[in-house]
Amino acid sequence: MKPAAMAAGGLGVVLVMVIASLLGLDPKKVQQVMNGPGANGGKGGQVENRKLSPEEIRSRDFAATVLAFTEEVWDEQFRKNGEKYVPPRMVLFADAVATGCGNAPSAVGPFYCPADRTVYLDPTFFAELRKNLGGSDAEFSQAYVIAHEIGHHVQNLLGYSEIVDRKRQTESKEEFNRWSVRLELQADFLAGVWAHHGQRKFDFVEKGDIDAALTSAKAIGDDRIQQNSRGFTSPESYTHGTSAQRVKWFRLGLQSGDMSKLSDLFELPYEKL
Ligand SMILES: [Zn+2]
Repeated sequence: MKPAAMAAGGLGVVLVMVIASLLGLDPKKVQQVMNGPGANGGKGGQVENRKLSPEEIRSRDFAATVLAFTEEVWDEQFRKNGEKYVPPRMVLFADAVATGCGNAPSAVGPFYCPADRTVYLDPTFFAELRKNLGGSDAEFSQAYVIAHEIGHHVQNLLGYSEIVDRKRQTESKEEFNRWSVRLELQADFLAGVWAHHGQRKFDFVEKGDIDAALTSAKAIGDDRIQQNSRGFTSPESYTHGTSAQRVKWFRLGLQSGDMSKLSDLFELPYEKL
């Protein structure tokens, strides 16, 4: 990513604060978000006292910066539709964490809990990305991952999450998985829409960033993961979509920036996704 955006990774908290101020956010709020309730193993209301490792500080500051960028973009997109964007909370956790969606073990990977409207980030996941992709390439991939989770928050606000949640009761496991794929691809699409508008506002994307994000999208496709972990794939068990689908929808969001395409994910025949 470009210096302004990636500064969070290198220069730390001061720059995050500067960026937050430039964006008109309350810098104190950004910090609170990152150390807020839930960060301390879910003992709500407490602020984490533990000394953070440099790696954790880097992840925290980076995530806070990306969060600020997402607030700017989604605030504008919602306002355009006459709606109000309510930002999610974000919690960085190192050990197991109690959430509104139950207990999450560490190393579960980043996730969003609709019940408490919170994005939970596990910094070991970021360390993993850095290890696999290398420094600057990892930056935009991390941003993509966070933007995907914020995408789930946007879906929650717009009612899409609830539609799929209700299917859990009424549909077979196989059919429910297909709805899960729709929801996940929609979150990828939203991550792309965010990058599209974020780029126009902040010019934060550098050559190569998009390729890195696409590489990540490819790496976390169900077919790729199943093939790598057990040597064969079973499409009826897919819950997030294939590598090709994830790349396709992220790219569509990125190129169009068009929120009106959002419903396509729920209306197109499954085979057309
Ligand atoms: Zn997801």
